[in-house]
Amino acid sequence: MQEGSEYLSEMKNKFYTNLFSKDAKHNSVMMTKQKYDSIIEDVKRIKISKKKESTRDYRIVERYDVMTIRGCEKLIEPISDDRTVVRMFVYAEELFEILHCAHQSINHGGRDKMIKFLNALYKNITQAQIKMYLDVCEFCQQKQKSEYLVGVVINCTLFYHIVCLSISV
Ligand SMILES: [Zn+2]
Repeated sequence: MQEGSEYLSEMKNKFYTNLFSKDAKHNSVMMTKQKYDSIIEDVKRIKISKKKESTRDYRIVERYDVMTIRGCEKLIEPISDDRTVVRMFVYAEELFEILHCAHQSINHGGRDKMIKFLNALYKNITQAQIKMYLDVCEFCQQKQKSEYLVGVVINCTLFYHIVCLSISV
């Protein structure tokens, strides 16, 4: 299994290099663990004091809530009458693991399957991040290449038949 874990850490490195360097826009969308924890502290402070001291506080309670899941405090989307499903926020350091587990559990499912699966559970995973993950999955990249080759072969055969037919006519 040594090979497998090396392969996985290489995948992870590639993913994070892309996530943090390719596009600064993704950087600002993604929160780090530090930011995630500080928002949790803010939500708890506002809830305890029952006072919103700034417009930032208003924004925070509108956007976030905290829930303890299996002993861990998680940042979630606030639940309301028309939103009864709990969706969690993800921080950068756990993003790869989440994408990887989701991808494996749906048998290397493609972009659309990933989006559907992850959007039901998480609030802040973007299509761009999913695409970045799929770009580093060797298995999916190979599969895509072989599908492309099959396509080329089929087209060639078709072309051959057309040529043969037109010659024999
Ligand atoms: Zn894959």
